[in-house]
Amino acid sequence: MPKNTIIGFPRIGEKRELKHALEAYWSGQTAFATVQQTALTLKRRHWGYQQQAGIALISCNDFSLYDTMLDTAVMLGAIPLRFADISDSTVQYFTMARGDEKRVAMEMTKWFNTNYHYIVPELSAQTRFKLNATKVLSELEEARAFGIIPKVNLIGPLTFLSLAKATDNSDVFAHLDRVVELYEQLLTQLAQHAPALYVQFDEPILSLGTDPLTQARLGGVYKTLSCASPALKLIVTTYFDHAKESVVSLAKSGVWGIGLDFVHGKENLDALGELGDLHLIAGVVDGRNVWKNDIRTTLELLERIASQVPKERICISTSCSLLHVPYTLAHESKLDKTLSTWLSFALEKLEEVTLLSQCFHGAPLSPAKTQALEANRAAAASRKTSDKIHNKQVQTRLQTTTKWKRDLPYTKRIVVQKAALNYPDLATTTIGSFPQTPALRHVRREYKNGTISSAVYETHIKAYIDECLAFQESIDLDVLVHGEPERNDMVEYFGEQLEGFAFTQNGWVQSYGSRCVKPPLLYGDISRPSPMTVAWITYAQSKTQKIVKGMLTGPVTILNWSFVRNDKPKKEIAQQIALAICDEINDLQEAGIGIVQVDEAAFKEGYPLRQEKHAQYEEWALESFRLSTSSAHPRTQIHTHMCYSEFRDIIHTIKAMDADVISIETARSGNKLLQIFKEIGYEQEIGPGIYDIHSPRVPSVEEMVTQIHALLEVFPKEQLWINPDCGLKTRKWEEVKPSLANMVTAVNAVRG
Ligand code: GLN
Ligand code: ZN
Repeated sequence: MPKNTIIGFPRIGEKRELKHALEAYWSGQTAFATVQQTALTLKRRHWGYQQQAGIALISCNDFSLYDTMLDTAVMLGAIPLRFADISDSTVQYFTMARGDEKRVAMEMTKWFNTNYHYIVPELSAQTRFKLNATKVLSELEEARAFGIIPKVNLIGPLTFLSLAKATDNSDVFAHLDRVVELYEQLLTQLAQHAPALYVQFDEPILSLGTDPLTQARLGGVYKTLSCASPALKLIVTTYFDHAKESVVSLAKSGVWGIGLDFVHGKENLDALGELGDLHLIAGVVDGRNVWKNDIRTTLELLERIASQVPKERICISTSCSLLHVPYTLAHESKLDKTLSTWLSFALEKLEEVTLLSQCFHGAPLSPAKTQALEANRAAAASRKTSDKIHNKQVQTRLQTTTKWKRDLPYTKRIVVQKAALNYPDLATTTIGSFPQTPALRHVRREYKNGTISSAVYETHIKAYIDECLAFQESIDLDVLVHGEPERNDMVEYFGEQLEGFAFTQNGWVQSYGSRCVKPPLLYGDISRPSPMTVAWITYAQSKTQKIVKGMLTGPVTILNWSFVRNDKPKKEIAQQIALAICDEINDLQEAGIGIVQVDEAAFKEGYPLRQEKHAQYEEWALESFRLSTSSAHPRTQIHTHMCYSEFRDIIHTIKAMDADVISIETARSGNKLLQIFKEIGYEQEIGPGIYDIHSPRVPSVEEMVTQIHALLEVFPKEQLWINPDCGLKTRKWEEVKPSLANMVTAVNAVRG
C-alpha cells in the first residue's frame, strides 16, 4: 500500500517549455517531433521530481499536449463530424482545440471553479465511439521505461459525460453504457500491460452535490468497471469540495479507493464512517493555493481521520492536481525573503506530502526532514504574527466602518445623475480598454525594466490617451474612456499598487492550451498607499468636454483572480479591498469625475460549487461590492460590467449590487438575457453589449439597428445604454474603429 501520492502534476514546464514548443510548432517553425521530444523530457523530469521527493505512487497520463478532457474525447473516439475528415491525428487533435480557416474550434470553458479551461466534448447520436488507447498506453510504457510503476490518471465517465454537450439536444447520458464499455476495454488492455496497476478516475463532478441521477448511476458504473479487471486497483478521486453523498455507493462498488478533498471539503469528515473497506486517498495538501501547509495542524486532521479509518488504509495526498499552482519557488529570486518562507508551489508541495506521510505513518524522520519540520513550525508561527501581513490600522478601520452602502436609493440618485451628467437616451459608450498594440506593450515593458524614464513613459501613455479620445470624439460617442493603456491586466494593475500584494517572476499556471496566467499573491492586509488611477483619468478628462468614465476593478474580481491568503476569511479580505476601491472612487469624484465603472468580471466565477454554499458567498461578495461604491455621492454614477451570460440564477444578486448602470455580455443571445432582467423588475440602467468583441468581424449598421430594436422591445430607451459586450484590448484598431463608428450610426438611426 503506497503511503502517499499526488492527484496530478502540472505539465506546461517550469520554464513554460511546452508552451514554447507548441507555439513554435503551430507557427510552422518546428516539426511535431520537437514537441514530442519536449513532452517526453517534461514527463521524465516531473516523474523524477516526484521520485526524488519520495512520492510513492506517481501519476502518468496526467500529461497532455493541450487538455486532458480533449484527450479523453479522442480516447473515446468522440470526434465531432467537422474534424472527421482530417486524416493526420496530430493535426486533427490540434484543430479540434484551435480550429482552422474552415472549422470552428470546440468550445472551451472553465474547469469547475478554477481558472483552468477544458475543451467541451461534443456528442450527438452520430458520435461513433471507439476506443483509442494509444496515448494512455504509450504514457504507461514511458513511465515504466523510466522505472516506475505508475498510477494511470483518467477522467471518469460520469465527469466526462456531465461536462460534454449534446449538439443535437439529445441526452448525453444516452451514451453512458457505450462509454463505460470502452472504459472496460481500456482497463482490460491496461491490465495486460500491468496486472496490479493503480488507475485513478477523476470524478470531480461528484463534488457538485447530490444530483440524484448521477448518484443513481455512480454505483453501477464503478461496479462494472471494478469487475472488468479485478486485479487492477481503481481509485475514484473527487476534489474542489466534499463528495460525501457518493461515499456509500463507492464503498459498495468494489473499487479499491476513494480520493477525498479535506482542504476544500471538510464535510468529508462526516462520511468517514461509511468508507467500509475502501482505501482513502486523503487530500490534505492544498493543490489550489500557494501557502505552506501547516504540518502540525494537518497532522491533527489526519489523526482525526485515523480515528475512523485504519492508518494503514490512508494514503496522504494533495487535495487536487497540482496543475493549479506554479512549479517552484526555486526561480523566485526577487520575492521578499520572509514571504517566500510562507509559500509552497508544486515542487515544495511534494516535500510536504512526503514529510506528512513520514510523520503520520511513523517512519523515523531523516535529519533533513526533522529540519524541514522545524522550519515549517517556524514559518507557521511567523506568519501568525508578522507585521508584513497584519496591519492594525486596516483592521481597525474595517471594524469601525459604519457606512456600508450609498446614501440614497437608486430612484432618487438617477434623477440627480441625469440632471448632472445630461447624457441622451441610448447613450453610447465602451467597456474601458482600447486595443493593446505591440508598441504599447513594448513601452510598458521598457518602463518596467527601467530602460525608459517615467517622463518618457508618461509621454507615450498620454499620447495613446489623446489618440483614443480623439477617435471617440470623432465618431461622437457619448461617454468616453481613457482606454487603459497603462494596464497590462485588470487585476495586476491594482495589485501592484496596493499594499498586501506580491508578484512572482515565474509563477505561471496553465489557463488553457499553451496559455498561462501569473496570478498575484494576496498575502497581507490590503491598503492603498496612494491613488491608483486618478492621474490618468483626470488627464483624460482635462482633454475633452465630454464625460470621461473612470475605470476600476471591483473587490470580488481582484480577490477571485489572485492567490488569496488562507489565514483569514475571504469576506474580510474582500472588505479590505473594497475599502481601497472606495477611497479611489472618492478621489476620482473629488477630482471631478462624474462616472466611475467598477468591473466585476469574476463575480460569477467565485460562486462555490455547491448550491448550499451560494448564499454565504453572495452575502459577502455583494456586501463588498456595495462597500466599495459606498463613497460615491448620489450624483456620481456607478457603472459595473460583467462578462458572462448566465445571469438567471444570480439576477437578484445583480440587482442588489445597486449599480446605477450595468453593462453585460449579451451580444450572442439577442434580447433573451435582457428579459431575465425585465422579469424581476430590474429598474437600473443597462448596457447590453450589442456586438461580440471576441470576433474580429466588423458588425454592420443594419444588424446593430436590428439588435437595438430587439432591446427596445424589452426596455425603454431611457433605461438602455449602447456599447460593445466587453473591453476592446484584444482587438485591432482596424476592427475597433469601423465597429464603433457603425455602432454610433446605428444608434443615431434608431434615435431618428
Ligand atoms: N474594463 C475592462 C476592459 O475593458 C473590463 C474587462 C473585462 O470585463 N474582462 O478591458
Ligand atoms: Zn467583459
